[in-house]
Amino acid sequence: MSLHHSIYDSPVFRQACRQFDLAADILGMETGVRERTKQPRRCLTVMLPVRLDNGKIETFEGYRVQHNISTGPAKGGIRFHQDVTLGEVAALAMWMSWKCSLVGLPFGGAKGGVVVNARDMSTGELERLSRRYMQEIATFIGPNLDIPAPDVGTNEQVMAWMMDTYSNHVGHYDPGVITGKPIALGGSLGRREATGEGVSWFTQAYLTDAGLKAADTTVVVQGFGNVGSETALALAAWGAKIVGLSDFTGGVANPRGLDVKDALAYVAANRSLQGYQGGETVTNAELLELPCTVLIPAALERVITEQNAGRLQCRFIAEGANGPTTNEADLILAQRGDIELIPDVLCNSGGVIVSYFEWLQNQSAYYWSKEEVFSKLHTMLAKAKASVEGTKKKFNCTRRTAALVLGIARVAEAKAKRGLFP
Ligand code: GLU
Repeated sequence: MSLHHSIYDSPVFRQACRQFDLAADILGMETGVRERTKQPRRCLTVMLPVRLDNGKIETFEGYRVQHNISTGPAKGGIRFHQDVTLGEVAALAMWMSWKCSLVGLPFGGAKGGVVVNARDMSTGELERLSRRYMQEIATFIGPNLDIPAPDVGTNEQVMAWMMDTYSNHVGHYDPGVITGKPIALGGSLGRREATGEGVSWFTQAYLTDAGLKAADTTVVVQGFGNVGSETALALAAWGAKIVGLSDFTGGVANPRGLDVKDALAYVAANRSLQGYQGGETVTNAELLELPCTVLIPAALERVITEQNAGRLQCRFIAEGANGPTTNEADLILAQRGDIELIPDVLCNSGGVIVSYFEWLQNQSAYYWSKEEVFSKLHTMLAKAKASVEGTKKKFNCTRRTAALVLGIARVAEAKAKRGLFP
């Protein structure tokens, strides 16, 4: 099947496919099995008419792509962003499959998206859009079928509205349909911090392996949403110096260190980092090239490219975002050989791991302490790190390919054992 005839065809989908192919080559996967494992299983496109506060109706487009449902219910977040495309959602769904498989969760992979700039909406408009989207996908998802969660542009409140809409649809409280909920509605302690906690855990673990200490570490974080801010807080608490932060309006750099809590308070009051006085104003492009120990892309895809990969001045890249590095940049980084990359499917897996814990707690209606959540999280992260390092050594490949080999092999094996129906 030629990708150029695929409805998902787009730069980011091709990026995910290229990453897959490099891993499938190592696994010696034959063409039929390769396509069966790589291509998304199914997708749903929905039209979402929403009444705006001014009385007019605006119609938004939304998607849900289930990449893999062979290894358990599909799992993955819902993104609200003006640049969302079906191909992007498909790539993100594919990465969810490998991520869940890599860390050993009993889930497949999915992703959802709505083409909307939610920042421009009132709370009422956002609630009506969130409910309408859930209403439209309700028959396509469920606690044993496909379990959404937050992603860029969505949060606990959106999850709460969606859980309420789904529960009304089925006629009873059903919190296991979605994760990342508020604690009062069956959310898990630690879920809000989980992705950043995981990114920080991996960063500390790899730096420690390299003989580096918190006091020697400077960090640049691109993206100041849930993942970027929680990662920055966790690494600052460890003792690292945060020397650069940015959001969609631009960045701020200070070699003497930034106060993350102060920056967060500024964003809470001003809705973005624009105008923040903690340091020198820089563009997002400049921020990525700042000298630092660890560069953490924690926003959108394809920001480390063939244009800037050769100019990065970090020793580590910890991918908090999904797909931040293009295939061309991967090649340049491998040639450079002086930057250790902790790939997305490993690095940001803490979020979906605690989503799994949330779903387990919902299914059993028995809730855990935050200590229990984090201790189980760290055990799973350590296990995944050890398997990735073993596989990297075994095949003498990049860390990204090693992580994908592990994630893909388990899905392919499950599909082979299930066989073809009929
Ligand atoms: N959106 C997050 C991710 O990309 C979390 C998904 C989830 O918790 O299901 O991994």
